[in-house]
Amino acid sequence: MISCLQEDKVRLQEELNVTEPRGQALGSSPQSQGTTDLEKHLEILVLENDRLKQELNGCQLQLQQLRNSLSGCTNCEHSKENTLLRKQMTDLQLELGEKVQLLAELEQHLKDVLQEKTEREERLNKRLRDCHLALAKQPTPSVKYITKKVEVESSRTKQDLEEAQARNQYLQEQIAIQRRLLADQEQQLQDSWRTSAQLQAQIMMYEAELERTRGEMLETLQAMEDEKNQAIEEVFLQARSEMKTVHENLNGVRMNLLSIQPALKTLTSDYNCLKNHVRDFPCLLQDAVNQTKREIYQAVEEAQKTNQDLLRKYKREMQLRKKCHNELVRLRGNIRVLCRVRPITPEDGTGLDTRNIISFDSDDDGVLYVSHRGKTTMFELDKVFQPHALQSEVFQEVQALITSCIDGYNVCIFAYGQTGSGKTYTMEGSPEDPGINQRALRLLFGEVAERSADWDLTITVSMAEIYNETLRDLLGSDPQKIEDLTMRNLLAKDPSEKLEIKLSPDGSGQLYVPGLIQIRVQSVDDINKVFELGRVNRATDFTNVNERSSRSHALLIVSVTGINLTSGVRTTGKLNLVDLAGSERVGKSGAEGPRLREAQNINKSLLALGDVICALRSKQPYIPFRNSKLTYLLQDSLSGDSKTLMMVQVSPMEKNVNETVCSLKFAQRVRSVELGTMVRRAENQHCSSRQDYESETPSAAAQQGRLNISHSGGSVVGKTTAGKRRLMASGEVNHRPAALPAL
Ligand code: ADP
Ligand code: MG
Repeated sequence: MISCLQEDKVRLQEELNVTEPRGQALGSSPQSQGTTDLEKHLEILVLENDRLKQELNGCQLQLQQLRNSLSGCTNCEHSKENTLLRKQMTDLQLELGEKVQLLAELEQHLKDVLQEKTEREERLNKRLRDCHLALAKQPTPSVKYITKKVEVESSRTKQDLEEAQARNQYLQEQIAIQRRLLADQEQQLQDSWRTSAQLQAQIMMYEAELERTRGEMLETLQAMEDEKNQAIEEVFLQARSEMKTVHENLNGVRMNLLSIQPALKTLTSDYNCLKNHVRDFPCLLQDAVNQTKREIYQAVEEAQKTNQDLLRKYKREMQLRKKCHNELVRLRGNIRVLCRVRPITPEDGTGLDTRNIISFDSDDDGVLYVSHRGKTTMFELDKVFQPHALQSEVFQEVQALITSCIDGYNVCIFAYGQTGSGKTYTMEGSPEDPGINQRALRLLFGEVAERSADWDLTITVSMAEIYNETLRDLLGSDPQKIEDLTMRNLLAKDPSEKLEIKLSPDGSGQLYVPGLIQIRVQSVDDINKVFELGRVNRATDFTNVNERSSRSHALLIVSVTGINLTSGVRTTGKLNLVDLAGSERVGKSGAEGPRLREAQNINKSLLALGDVICALRSKQPYIPFRNSKLTYLLQDSLSGDSKTLMMVQVSPMEKNVNETVCSLKFAQRVRSVELGTMVRRAENQHCSSRQDYESETPSAAAQQGRLNISHSGGSVVGKTTAGKRRLMASGEVNHRPAALPAL
């Protein structure tokens, strides 16, 4: 038994010895020698790591310096390269950090393994020591005894033996485990060595990389240093040259300063002087302002006086101007002849015969030229309106005549010319662009309103037509067609009724047209109604109004009667606006029947108009007013103090050349005719020209106070008499109807 135990002990001892060198080589090696190597290695690694960190710091410092020196050039190639290097370095640092981390982990793991191994070894040593102690406690002599005892107490010994064997078994197992662990640890150690070697290699590689980067950086740094030096040198040179210039300038300025000094002294003394003045300035200013105010008040007072004076003079001048105007008209002749050339419109078509044959004189607005077959004829008139003339421009020329009818003058405005030359356009116009008729009435309304404080003025209108030497009222209508009862009474008339021009039965010698309707108009609306009525009546019996209108004379007779509210003086003026029949010579072209009769009548009346005007001009004792209905009706407005305006309309086209020339010849013929001395009707003067009138013209005295305007009884259109032109003093005669029909 004891021998058996001894054997066990020896074996265990052997085993322990075997284990010990191994443990020294493997297990204890990490604890003592191995552990020291690892620690040393670890220390080396840590040191290396520290060194690398220091180098890194150094590099970072260098980098910072470089960055500072490069802060000026952010976009150059070096800074880009620098950024790239910095990025690479950051990557390397990260990688290094990871490796160091891995190394630290391995180190920790190694430490743990070593710790565990040491503990196990200690435990094994303790048990070995316990075994030794147990063995030592059993003396050799007792072994025999024990053997005996063992034999005697074999069952107990056997049990102990079994226990020892079991323990031995256990210990062997433990040793096997320890061996395996040792093998594992050996393997792990080898792995760590390998990892360490790899890390070492990597670190070396990083070092090489770092070295290369540093080299590159140094190169870049050097290049930049060179550039910097070069730039500094250039700047230095430039600064030196600038400095030189500045020095030169400074010398110049110094010289200037030296020369300015005396001027400065003068300026300073001037300044001081001015300062004194400025101190006294407010008082001076106040005095000057007061003085100026006084002067201004005085000047304003004087200006007011002068103004009033001027106003008085102006009014006087206005009166004078009016007189002068009338005088001028008289000097020019009471007949003014104007010409209006109508434009060629698209409706006229194209072709040679629509060519323009009329030209104008840019310096003289009273001249026009007609060119035909290589011959140019000049015509001289009072004024020529070119094709582009506006209705308003034409009206402006005639408006003085129209207002003079309020002052008591009789006025005639004729539109003369061939059919299609623009007579109706000038007299009537279109609703959008009215002609003389409507504009005249509007003007009269305005004048009436302006003079309403001093005058009670009444405007009445009549419309008549002379066709085939027959006078017809254009305002009378078939009673059946008039709805308004008042109007029916007023306007009821057979539209085809022929009106007669008669001598007044009172022996005054005046002519009047019994039954000619006169309508009082007060507004533009009234005018429009009247014109519409006239237009409708004119169209009643005829299929073609234009044709009809070209063969008849259309008359718009506007009478203006006024009573001066202060003096009671009465005035009456008549404005005859006549759209004459076409002047073309139809009769010569072989017309027959009614057309021939029409043409003859037209020719007759236009001829009579020319004759009357010529007779008046040449102051013949006999004036053939009676040769036509037209002159007979208008004799009152053609003679004496009357004013006449002939608007000769012409077409500028080649095809109308003959009629154009005829019209212009007619115009020139009547142009210089004087109608006698112009006397204002209200001036109560006898007109010398009355002797020029027809033999039946009664004496002025006989005609005094015979002006009669009536509706039902007819309108006086009678003789041009001084009696009719004279002043009709209030209360002297008053034949004016109490109330004129008004629309
Ligand atoms: P008349 O009455 O002489 O026969 P109109 O007045 O009827 O002639 O004119 C004939 C045509 O010429 C009309 O179509 C008219 O509109 C046109 N006309 C006449 N004068 C002018 C003008 N100054 N501007 C524009 N058109 C005009
Ligand atoms: Mg016409």
